[in-house]
Amino acid sequence: MLSVSEAQQAILAGVKRLEPETVPLLEALGRVLAEEVTADTALPPFDNSAMDGYAVRAADLIGATPERPVRLPVIADIPAGHPTEVELTAGTIARITTGAVLPRGADAVVPVEETDDGARSASALLESVAIYRAIPQGAHVRRTGEDVQRDEQVLNSGLLIRPAEIALMSAVGHNQVRVYRRPRVALLATGDELVTPDRVPGPGQIRNVNEYSTAALVMRYGGVPLLLGIARDRMERVAAKLEEAVGQGADVIVASAGVSVGAYDVVKEAVQAHGSIDLWKVRMRPGKPLAFGFYRQRPFFGLPGNPVSAMMTFEQFVRPVLRIMCGFTHWKKPAIAVTLLEPIESDGRETYARAWVERSGDRWQARLSGGQGSNMLSSLVRANALVIVPEGVHQLAAGATVQAQMLDWPEDLDGW
Ligand code: AMP
Ligand code: MG
Repeated sequence: MLSVSEAQQAILAGVKRLEPETVPLLEALGRVLAEEVTADTALPPFDNSAMDGYAVRAADLIGATPERPVRLPVIADIPAGHPTEVELTAGTIARITTGAVLPRGADAVVPVEETDDGARSASALLESVAIYRAIPQGAHVRRTGEDVQRDEQVLNSGLLIRPAEIALMSAVGHNQVRVYRRPRVALLATGDELVTPDRVPGPGQIRNVNEYSTAALVMRYGGVPLLLGIARDRMERVAAKLEEAVGQGADVIVASAGVSVGAYDVVKEAVQAHGSIDLWKVRMRPGKPLAFGFYRQRPFFGLPGNPVSAMMTFEQFVRPVLRIMCGFTHWKKPAIAVTLLEPIESDGRETYARAWVERSGDRWQARLSGGQGSNMLSSLVRANALVIVPEGVHQLAAGATVQAQMLDWPEDLDGW
């Protein structure tokens, strides 16, 4: 039996990122860039005004004050998107809006608030304007290339695409992006007792939870779920679903239940018909009966049937595989030191206890979020963290400091 980290290492050993594909810009959000992005233009692309006001020659305003303003003739009107051929000669000014091209001859912009041009909205062009203040050269001017140079490499391959990266790519005309392909993850529930969630369970039946919980996890972590539905506890039923997964182009196959030692636990055998089970059972609670191997060269996970165990083992073992396939290098969930508000018991396995973690002053504290049975979903719903009881520890006292894995915090940023 492997420890959690030994099992993670063994599982990740053979996993590589998937090949890149080209997608429209917005579909790249949350994915990993698979190319270097260079700017097809400088940013800003031209000298322009940072304010609504008047383009001036700073030398013309020397000595201007509210008591002794400088009055100058307005020779042009330059709205954004309408560059002018007009050149400012000494002693002239032009009305200009934010983002409009600075006219030749101008070297600064006076904000409208510093002039006697009070009524701005849709107002007619004044013949002359009094300016109340002297300003230095370059004031309120955004220079060509002050942000990004033309042909500059602005984004490195391998980084996470956030809204900021989308913004920069749109600014440099990059409306299609190479990103690593999303893994297609086939999801299969096994069990004679299962019915779909829209049905009222009959005697001895329960609703299929794992297919939906794991589909949601696949989506959260960047994959595409392929819902294969329920296979009954018979070799040929499970075998048929595994073939269906391959037929649908699955990169990873995730089954739940049927991997224990029960009389009807047929999943491992079905996988071995065209693959291998390389690892079975991890020293972890919840989630001991985890099977991992390959089915027709694809990574195969047999998650435990109990819904909480299925989700916990997905978080610790399937999520890292999806992250790597998506092109990330960081896959560890952030863990922080927390102070326990109540004691926790364990059987000596590495235990992941559902907990609520919150700030108290400059520290974080944790309390259990409810019953810890591996079937109990309500405590998972009330949890935002998993308090980790290290291997070999049977009891943690109230007040002890332990690590808590933060379920809803993202992994470290990639590519920086
Ligand atoms: P097994 O691994 O087949 O022994 O199943 C362990 C427990 O998980 C049993 O109580 C099953 O009824 C339950 N279980 C199995 N599959 C699912 C599923 N898809 N959704 C909810 N519970 C399940
Ligand atoms: Mg079963």
